[in-house]
Amino acid sequence: MTFASRQAIRLSDGRELIYFDEAPASGRASFPDTRHLPPPPHTSQLRYDPLVDEWVAVAAHRQTRTFLPPSDACPLCPSTPSFASEIPAPSYDVVVFENQFPSFSDRVAPDEITSLTELVPVRPGIGRAEVVCFTSDHNSSFGALTPARVRTVIDVLADRTTEMSRLTGVAQVFPFENRGVEIGVTLHHPHGQIYAYPTVPARTRSMLTAAARYRTRTGHDLYTDVLTAERKAGVRVIGENEHWTAYVPAAARWPFEVQLAPHRKVLDIPALSDAERDAFGPLYLDVLGRFDRLFGKPMPYISAWHQAVVGEGRELGYLHLQLFSIRRAADKLKYLAGSESAMGFFVNDIVPEKAAEMLREA
Ligand SMILES: [Zn+2]
Repeated sequence: MTFASRQAIRLSDGRELIYFDEAPASGRASFPDTRHLPPPPHTSQLRYDPLVDEWVAVAAHRQTRTFLPPSDACPLCPSTPSFASEIPAPSYDVVVFENQFPSFSDRVAPDEITSLTELVPVRPGIGRAEVVCFTSDHNSSFGALTPARVRTVIDVLADRTTEMSRLTGVAQVFPFENRGVEIGVTLHHPHGQIYAYPTVPARTRSMLTAAARYRTRTGHDLYTDVLTAERKAGVRVIGENEHWTAYVPAAARWPFEVQLAPHRKVLDIPALSDAERDAFGPLYLDVLGRFDRLFGKPMPYISAWHQAVVGEGRELGYLHLQLFSIRRAADKLKYLAGSESAMGFFVNDIVPEKAAEMLREA
């Protein structure tokens, strides 16, 4: 572990906040939350869509969440004498706390109904939604972190994955970062989120189905074979080191999409070895630098950790990070229009081999 100190406190509304500090005995936990916050909202409602066999979370309270506040009122900066933010201490390294406007939580409304029609069961969105602040520096970005800080973040995600996987009913833990207003980011401060889902998301479910079918047919692990084939082909590889390879998927959906995968089959972040955790940062930071140099301006992106599910099908998982951007040219964004949004059939304007070449040269 690279964090020397892990200290948990409760915010004034009862939400948990954890300081992960790189130096021991920082004393940050001695600062109380001076705000008088109302109780957090009840969790979302999950509604079943029988037409596609998927659940949808309905969270009306999220409409009122903080939207692009001025930097002196940033809820993710440390608190100052004139402004009490979400983080009571005057400084921090990495901090995690329960989202004030969570998509998933254990706060179930007392009058929760159980169905809307015979075909549409309803259940509470039990799970957890956390915010991870990567640095106290408001104007920084993940790509500007040191490899040592990235290592701390990985250790924090391992800690959170282990804890959240143990919560009742959690099916999958999903750490992710949305970067850039083009993606829909509502706070500029460098941060990510972690969702603990109460059901296996549709995308994961189709990946599990594909992996199970492949295992039955060949006896092999699907992601292992895909990664081996990509490393052998080489044409879409962006970079690699002893433990990780970064490559553009052969059938990339997004104009610029990269997957970073450990060479050893690992189910989730907690299962990464010390050496694998250390080796991740340098390669990921290199890829993020290429993203930003591609068009000479900060690239909006989504960075998504795919981890093994908690329950059935867990052994079919293979930890990997999926990084992708909606920017397809310096002044053009890829929108999810008719084919993608209505039918889920992606049409990519950039040939993946060309995207890989551009990223290698950036
Ligand atoms: Zn800030």
